[in-house]
Amino acid sequence: MKSTYTILLLIFTLNCSNQNPVEFDLVISNVTLINGTGGAAQPNSNLFIKDGKIIDITEGDIAVSDEKVLDGTNKYLIPGLIDGHAHPSPAKENFPRFIHFGVTSIFVPGCGDCSNENYQSMRALSSESPLSSPRIFHTSQHFTMEGRHPVKTYANPKWVEGKTVYYVRDTLQIETLVREVSEQPILGIKVTIEDGPDPPFVERIPTEFVRKIVTEAHKYDLNVFAHVSDMEEVRIAEKAGADHIIHFVGVDIDWEKDTEVIDRLIARDVSWVTTIMIDKMFFYPAHPEWLEEITSWNIYDTAEIERLRSTKSAEEARAFLKMLYADAWDGLPDPTLAQVASNNGEDLQALLTKGCNLVIGTDTGNDFIFPGYSFHEEMEIMQMGGIEPKDIIKMATHNAAKMLGVLDELGTLEVGKFADMVLLEKNPLADIKNTLTIHSVFREGNLQTRIKEK
Ligand SMILES: [Zn+2]
Repeated sequence: MKSTYTILLLIFTLNCSNQNPVEFDLVISNVTLINGTGGAAQPNSNLFIKDGKIIDITEGDIAVSDEKVLDGTNKYLIPGLIDGHAHPSPAKENFPRFIHFGVTSIFVPGCGDCSNENYQSMRALSSESPLSSPRIFHTSQHFTMEGRHPVKTYANPKWVEGKTVYYVRDTLQIETLVREVSEQPILGIKVTIEDGPDPPFVERIPTEFVRKIVTEAHKYDLNVFAHVSDMEEVRIAEKAGADHIIHFVGVDIDWEKDTEVIDRLIARDVSWVTTIMIDKMFFYPAHPEWLEEITSWNIYDTAEIERLRSTKSAEEARAFLKMLYADAWDGLPDPTLAQVASNNGEDLQALLTKGCNLVIGTDTGNDFIFPGYSFHEEMEIMQMGGIEPKDIIKMATHNAAKMLGVLDELGTLEVGKFADMVLLEKNPLADIKNTLTIHSVFREGNLQTRIKEK
């Protein structure tokens, strides 16, 4: 992509060192760098960018005043955020929302709209309007079976076999299906193992079918991303050799029973995407003040917010929450998001400590999950669950890029990588909510067009 900055030879000298002058398109000077690797913040850093990439990082004062310098004094620089689970339709409206909130890449693991044509138009939008669109990575369409999740459980005319969903029937046919989808520019195959969101449940896809999909996918260098909703399905994914797991929500690890399975997953370097926003989404109708905050951003469709406001009363929502979490917590009379966050947080922290590659993802596309903004909500839930901001930022950047196989180009702010980054007014290591104090967003070194807040 062509830089919007004119390439200009600039000569300058460093005050305090004998480093050579360099050519650059942009320098962010004197900024506190939080580079996404989970290491300590580096105050007083200067990032030099040329042709969209970081070409040098220095420390100390620089004596240069030029229009190509963005003064980062008292500001914090983090890598562009990567939503590890997003359904962005309609992309035209939602892409600028991701960018507004610093999400410079998204990963789409199939959707009701995800035909080859629609994927193609998302990719085109991302490359043709790079100043207001995130990078897009995606899987194949859902692989599931006839009469299973999500086609039966979320019945919708958008599910069309061969277009937005593939039904596996036998192992021979799986060979043909995988060969067919491998011709598309996909990172891997999305396999739905879930038995459905509510009783009565549907049958799960048999483990041997998942295993066959994995075997065939690996022939084409494709990963398999397993959609699960509980620990039983995690065991199926592990047994079948799936490469990544795209939900943590609904999973409750029994560390006495499940440690071996978890250790095997970690030994295989399986990435695991959080999507705890699915829990928060159930709490939303009980907290009308949260929707007030969404309204105040003036970035989302007012009619859509009104629709959400009328889906459930606060009372109905509380009754539903009580039912939903009753089993898990002995009939807890008034479940709170903080309780859910700390329940999940314990398992997630244990996974992190063991070296699991946890990735922040929102599952935006569902009600009450807002493209861009909810990424910050997901990070806040991690903080509520006891995870340190430095680890949360790593999950949101480095770990996501690792899952997507693009860590050599994205995910951290290091020399040689693309300058996808977010400049913040306040320190996100002091409070992860400070990732919302966005000064500016860059994709490939280019200042992005943010939506005007009123
Ligand atoms: Zn999803």
